[in-house]
Order: sequence, then structure tokens, then C-alpha cells
Amino acid sequence: MTILLLADHDQHTLSDATARALTAASATGGTVHLLVAGHNIGAVAEAAAKLSGVSTVLVADDPALAHGLAEPVAATILEHAGDYDTIVAPATATGKDVFPRIAARLDVMQISDVTRIVAPDTFERPIYAGNAVETVKTSDKIRILTIRTSAFNPAEAGDTPAEIKTVAVPQASWRARFEEEIVTKSDRPDLSSAKIVISGGRALGSADRFRDTLGPLAERLNAAIGASRAAVDAGYAPNDLQVGQTGKVVAPDLYIALGISGAIQHLAGMKDSKIIVAINKDEDAPIFQIADYGLVGDLFQIVPEFEKALG
Ligand code: FAD
Repeated sequence: MTILLLADHDQHTLSDATARALTAASATGGTVHLLVAGHNIGAVAEAAAKLSGVSTVLVADDPALAHGLAEPVAATILEHAGDYDTIVAPATATGKDVFPRIAARLDVMQISDVTRIVAPDTFERPIYAGNAVETVKTSDKIRILTIRTSAFNPAEAGDTPAEIKTVAVPQASWRARFEEEIVTKSDRPDLSSAKIVISGGRALGSADRFRDTLGPLAERLNAAIGASRAAVDAGYAPNDLQVGQTGKVVAPDLYIALGISGAIQHLAGMKDSKIIVAINKDEDAPIFQIADYGLVGDLFQIVPEFEKALG
């Protein structure tokens, strides 16, 4: 069995999501080829070749792939799809953009957000905002999977680098065109892969209080900052910090929820965190049902005390 894994990267750096999806791809029990599609991506290909479990790195280098647009990336994968039993991507923005197109073109189903490989043709994935786990067995001849990366540990570096091969990129006049990229700049660790996440909810009350309350604590703990949808909708935090069903899915070692009630849609994005700490003034808040440590009280008193205790 041969598996093709689409690397997730920003044209310069290979993301942690790739190493996690590689663990899932390897668990399906075959030879893994890792496709790096982009432009001037030598450094990404070299980093990919160092990962344990990759047999070959395929480099598709073309100006049309410089911004990861779904149309040319999907066409590149489809050009080589016939050589593979399983095609995998992390369920990142890129994976979610490219893979439905591939599945449609191959006329097979996509199995999204896989959290466990049961057998080469059988997979587990969460449904109903994570309230149930569905086991999917497929008889499709090519399996198209996106991986929920928080469910898998990253593959380590291997002893011998994998072979790097250049592959053909189909040429066409693509209908989608890159216009502009607006990237949020942050000194904080990336939310999806941070070991500690501190999230704030509606209780923060304003953008200033959100920043002034979470910022220093996050700095102290080298944590990423997250937010509930209520905090995002109210304009206290930018959209890309939203954790939950319609935001990011995180599973850090430590998740601290400040003034978040624990709605099912929020839990869908953080309930797999290893240790959950909740601070909420309502002792009946649902977040306490999944918290390992719960503090009932006013976050505006508790957070400064917590900071003082950190020294
Ligand atoms: P609230 O539910 O208003 O809770 C605020 C909490 O703060 C309360 O528990 C209160 O007791 C506590 N509090 C108030 N003051 C203080 C204080 N001084 N100190 C301590 N505690 C205090 N939500 C998400 O988060 N992520 C999603 O991805 C998401 N997707 C959704 C998708 C759909 C289709 C729908 C319908 C909803 C979605 N939601 C999502 C919204 C979700 O249902 C909740 O409305 C939202 O999570 C509530 O945010 P919150 O906990 O910050 O606010």
C-alpha cells in the first residue's frame, strides 16, 4: 500500500500539522510519500525528508503553487493520484480547501477529521460537535482522508533523510488568482500547536480587558491566546483566535478557560486538552463538568492573584 501525504507549509517552514498527519498516515500501514507543493520550497522539502516514516519526498515546484491555491494543488495531486491507495492531508485550512475537490474529481467520499486509524480502510471521526464518534469503513479504491492533527503525536526526526524527487506540475490557465494575503502578526505561540492555551470568554467585557487580562498571563506562561465565539463576536478578540466547533481545534497540555461557560460548541474545540482549568463565577457553569481544576470566583480577582503566585 502506498500513501500520499500533502505537506502543510507556508512556503518556508513545514508545519507541525504535517508531522502529526504523518503519524496517522504511517498508522494506515504503508509506504508514505510526502508531497511538498509550492514554489522555491527547497527548505521545506529538506525538513520533510528528515521526518521518520517518509520514504520519498515529492517536490512539485511551480509559480502557480506559490500561494497554495486549491485549484493547481488539487490538479497536481490528481496527476499522481493513480499511484496511491490513500491520500492524506492534515485538516488545516489548506487540507480543507484542497481535499473536497480531489474527492469530487475522483468520485469517492472524503473522510474528514480522522481521529483514529482502526484499519487501513476503517477510521474514527467525531460527529455532532464531538459528542459522538463515528466509525467509517470505506470500500473506495482510493481513500481520501483529512486528519484532525490534535489527535496524533508528531512524527520524530528519522536517522536517514528520505529521497527527494521532483514531480510534474500540470500546466493550465487557472481560474482562481492570488490577490493578497493578510497575516495576523503575533508574538505568541501558534494556537493550534501551543502547549499552553489561555482562552477568554464573554466575561472579559471589552477588547482592552481581554488584552490586559490574558496578555500578561500568556506572556508569563509562554501560552497562546484563544477565545470563545461570544468573545470574538463581541469584538474582544480577532476571529482567528476562536476555539471550538467553528473555530480551531486544540489539544494542549494545559487549557485555561477564563469566563467561558462551556457551551457544547466551545467544548468541541478543546475538550481533548490534557489538563483543563476553568475559572468562572457560576459554580453551575458546564465548563466545570470537564475541568480537571475549577475555581469558582471572579476572574478579575483570581487572575492577578495567580500571576502574583507565579512570582
Ligand atoms: P457565555 O456563555 O455568555 O459565558 C460567559 C461565562 O462567563 C458565564 O459562564 C459566566 O458565569 C462567566 N462570568 C461572567 N463574569 C465573570 C467573571 N467576572 N469571572 C468569572 N466568570 C465570569 N462557541 C465557541 O466558543 N466556539 C465555537 O466554535 C462556536 N461555534 C458555534 C457554532 C454554532 C453553529 C453555534 C450555534 C454556536 C457556536 N458557538 C461557539 C457559540 C456557543 O454556543 C456559545 O454561545 C459561546 O461559546 C459562549 O461563549 P462564552 O462562554 O464566552 O459566553
